[in-house]
Amino acid sequence: MLISEIFIPTLKESPAEAVAMSHKLMIRSGMIRKLSSGLYTYFPIGLRIFRKVENIIREEMNKAGAQEFNPSILTPGELWQKTGRLETFGPVLIQIKDHSGHLNVLGPTHEEVFTEIVRIEISSYKQLPVNFYQIKTKIRDEIRPRYGVMRCREFTMKDAYSFDIDEKGLEETYKKMRQAYKNIFKRCGLNTIIVEEDMGAMGGTASEEFMVESEIGEATLVLCKKCGYAANLERAESLDKIESKKETPEALKEIDTPNQKTIEELTNFLKSSPDKFIKTIVYMADEKPVVVLIRGDLEINEIKLQNALKAVNLELADDVTIKKITKANVGFVGPVGLKNIPIYADHSIKTMSNAVTGANKNDKHIINVDLDRDFKVDEFIDIRTAKEDDLCIKCKSGLIFKKGIEVGHVFKLGYKYTKSMNVKFLDKDNKEKHPIMGCYGIGVDRTIAAVIEQSNDKDGIIWPITVAPFDVVMIVLTRDKKKYQDTTDSLYKGLNEKYEVLMDNREASPGFKFKDADLIGIPVKIILSDKNLAQDKIEVKMRKSGETMLVDKGKILPEIEKIIKEEYKKYEV
Ligand code: ATP
Ligand code: MG
Repeated sequence: MLISEIFIPTLKESPAEAVAMSHKLMIRSGMIRKLSSGLYTYFPIGLRIFRKVENIIREEMNKAGAQEFNPSILTPGELWQKTGRLETFGPVLIQIKDHSGHLNVLGPTHEEVFTEIVRIEISSYKQLPVNFYQIKTKIRDEIRPRYGVMRCREFTMKDAYSFDIDEKGLEETYKKMRQAYKNIFKRCGLNTIIVEEDMGAMGGTASEEFMVESEIGEATLVLCKKCGYAANLERAESLDKIESKKETPEALKEIDTPNQKTIEELTNFLKSSPDKFIKTIVYMADEKPVVVLIRGDLEINEIKLQNALKAVNLELADDVTIKKITKANVGFVGPVGLKNIPIYADHSIKTMSNAVTGANKNDKHIINVDLDRDFKVDEFIDIRTAKEDDLCIKCKSGLIFKKGIEVGHVFKLGYKYTKSMNVKFLDKDNKEKHPIMGCYGIGVDRTIAAVIEQSNDKDGIIWPITVAPFDVVMIVLTRDKKKYQDTTDSLYKGLNEKYEVLMDNREASPGFKFKDADLIGIPVKIILSDKNLAQDKIEVKMRKSGETMLVDKGKILPEIEKIIKEEYKKYEV
């Protein structure tokens, strides 16, 4: 393609609001432009990249046995009512009434739609398992759209939904999807870390996210470099660095602690350390009060707590409720003497001895509290938030924290949708059963942005050849156009038969052309200059390594063929 045939409005500067490198470079290279908050238009060069990523995803999904559908984006409100997600999705869901007053939802994801399809179309075990997918626009009214297409309001997701006869079947499908995802990201040249994830609002049995390590990532990854343990902080498990041993309990004693409410105030006041305190928090789990205990130097991970309690809603109890239950104000609450309320404790409580805790009397604490002697715990649960100096639960090595961008998500959903939407099939044994579901999502736009985050330099984007808008850019610098016209034309023609070539034959300075080529990030540059052509040579320069080669004019086609083959090989699966 001649550069005059494609609209590539490159820019020297990026808009002030763009902070993420990928956002800046997508704008500067002419890939996208903003229409409004969280809404973007892909320009031709951006769309070429978009299609490549989309096709890689499509090929791998098809290879894994999934089938592509094309459902509508506008979906009936009743489906969302059935699963309760009209409420649980919250403000992200865009709801619109049509001319007849019917409620519609602009699909942010399509569990409801695909479950409805299966409800209607599938009735026997003979038709199962199935794995259906789409690569289509999703609409989410994100509260804080940011980083360009990384978190926007209209984006494209590949979402797949699998329906299996039983858990064993789901396990197999899940494994296939996990492998397909690995292949997809490898082919896109993206290094991902697979992390265990919180089950979240969808409710399910297992979930993993494909993360890209990046400073701008919104997720915190807890990683063990030694054994490979990787989890989202939202669900990470960890061990204490120092193992504490139980001491002989001393006599319980009430002490005055006027106005000393927080752990920090108390540690100063009592000249003690935070790990000597039992932090006592009253929560409302689905409207029922519960008491939760954790060692004073640790933080409660509310997502883990919510999962452990199997609560749909979890919030801190208000002051009135706390007073009613404990007879004391916030800050003076403790487990000793509490009755008729379930007490859950983090495992860190088990090894504490001679601890300090609120006395359930204002301005008073008690010291030398002992777990076995002074209070009872109904259930021990893992609810601590992992800390950077914690140890790995698998191999006891030190953990490290990194920021990550979620690009994909594989999820064993279970029966949530097939039960709430009453999907049944007749099994071999003539019994009616619900199929078990999995769902699998990849953000096309976010994947593109993540590739750029991971692969750029001061000059611009460095595309892996598999997703590059062109394989090769021919930069024509000859002043004597006529003299070398034939060479240029025949090379362009020869390359064009096999590869995607962009020919920059504009009347512009070499510097200008190089800048654009590097900004756009095309992997291979072929540079035609009077000086080299006079000696029957053509220069080839690689975008990523900066390596240059002078190739005999007569050998240029096979040489380029070799280079391109090698480039593609790097991303093969
Ligand atoms: P996040 O936690 O980042 O909001 P999510 O957990 O809501 O994402 P999923 O529902 O699992 O996302 O969606 C699957 C994939 O869709 C994500 O892994 C991501 O690549 C992409 N995605 C989700 N929301 C957006 C968005 N607002 N803009 C662009 N891509 C998105
Ligand atoms: Mg997710």
